[in-house]
Amino acid sequence: MTQSLPEQRPARERAFAGSGPPPVVVIGAGPYGLSVAAHLRAGGVPVLVFGETLGSWRHAMATGMFLKSTPDAVDLSAPVPGARLADFRRAHGEPELTELTPIPCDVFVRYGQWFQKQHVGEVDPARVVSVDRATTDSGFTVRLDDDRELAAAAVVVATGLNGLAHVPAELTHLCPDGAGRGALVSHTSHHTDLSPYAGRRVAVIGGGQSALESAALLHEAGAEVQVLVREDHVLWGSTPGSARARWRRMARPYSPLGTGWILAAVCRAPGAVRRLPAAVRMLLFRRALGPSGGWWLRDRVEGVLRVRTSCRVTRAEAARSGVRLEVAGPRSASEALTVDHVLAATGYRLDLDAVPFLSPTVRGALACVPGSKAPRLKAGFESSVPGLYFAGSLAAPTYGPMMRFVAGTEYVATRIAAHAARRVSAP
Ligand SMILES: Cc1cc2nc3c(=O)[nH]c(=O)nc-3n(C[C@H](O)[C@H](O)[C@H](O)COP(=O)(O)OP(=O)(O)OC[C@H]3O[C@@H](n4cnc5c(N)ncnc54)[C@H](O)[C@@H]3O)c2cc1C
Repeated sequence: MTQSLPEQRPARERAFAGSGPPPVVVIGAGPYGLSVAAHLRAGGVPVLVFGETLGSWRHAMATGMFLKSTPDAVDLSAPVPGARLADFRRAHGEPELTELTPIPCDVFVRYGQWFQKQHVGEVDPARVVSVDRATTDSGFTVRLDDDRELAAAAVVVATGLNGLAHVPAELTHLCPDGAGRGALVSHTSHHTDLSPYAGRRVAVIGGGQSALESAALLHEAGAEVQVLVREDHVLWGSTPGSARARWRRMARPYSPLGTGWILAAVCRAPGAVRRLPAAVRMLLFRRALGPSGGWWLRDRVEGVLRVRTSCRVTRAEAARSGVRLEVAGPRSASEALTVDHVLAATGYRLDLDAVPFLSPTVRGALACVPGSKAPRLKAGFESSVPGLYFAGSLAAPTYGPMMRFVAGTEYVATRIAAHAARRVSAP
């Protein structure tokens, strides 16, 4: 099933030479891109994958982070047995992870790299800079950052949250050249190492996992941290497997995204989510999963860090020694706070206009889910541009919140592979 590198090389060379059938191009080598590619390759569909294997997990997450998901919710998908995280651990003589052992991000990266070698084969690390409609047929022209160009029969966009980081408007004027490590404001996705903030005052804005975990890491690295949370309390996940009474398990059934009927339903039937009215889907997208911290993080935050709830930044200005924030509480007037750096743990915005490689023609032909700038997808994850598919977070407003997580790879990869294979084999 798995093609070895020498077997793949001629197919790649043919694709760039323009001879042979044009391949399906998968943009992105994260959990979604790799899973889709594994299914396409196993089905004998010519496929080329571009991107860095588990690139986001290596360059957009801080060292020392753990996954919030439990081990049974982070398997990548291949059409053969033996591709699960547990198989990887077994193959390397590493002890099995249980739901009570948080998974270090670097373990997940090694799993992804192993999966790629076993089930995908070659991944080209070049970045895609342009996807346009082909002038001669119904396919696409794909251009890479090293000036190579190739024709594609279909394109799968699996670039995750790259380019979609959101920094609130109240903070953007503090960084006219863009938020980042060297600026007064950065986003959590800008960091792989938080130790340079040792001895500095940092305000972390946000109340979800990345805010709380970044704050814990900053504190442990020697920074003076305050977390500013908009909600009136911090929500923590419950310890998994804690002998839950039967009636509680029935009242709040398990799902890969957490417990509760809504989460269980959206994970069981993403296809049914797609048939709901757009307004209901957007509500699900925004509300089904609020910000919360992993159960295992609680001891590193509660009673350890200063966490202010029910507060929001109303004004921010550059001061002689950093940033002066005005923070409004629930009742009190604004209070001033001066810090050296602001870390925005404020999530991501799904916005097709921020996907840099879609040509204006392709972008203009993409229909969006009403009330969003995310693509409207048909069955098989195909967009309104025939042959252009979206996997991962950008599919969440159509197929529901599971698409934001690794747990969705099985559903997505099987559907896209089947749909794209039919398209490629159609006369
Ligand atoms: C801090 C943090 C913690 C998380 N923890 C969890 C968790 O515990 N469990 C969970 O299920 N999910 C978690 N997530 C969500 C997680 O990001 C997704 O579940 C998962 O990574 C989605 O996979 P993906 O393949 O869609 O995208 P990604 O993993 O982001 O992969 C994107 C790929 O696209 C490539 N790429 C981007 N642009 C281009 C381009 N122009 N050309 C070529 N390649 C390109 C990148 O190199 C990369 O290979 C977390 C996210 C964050 C930010």
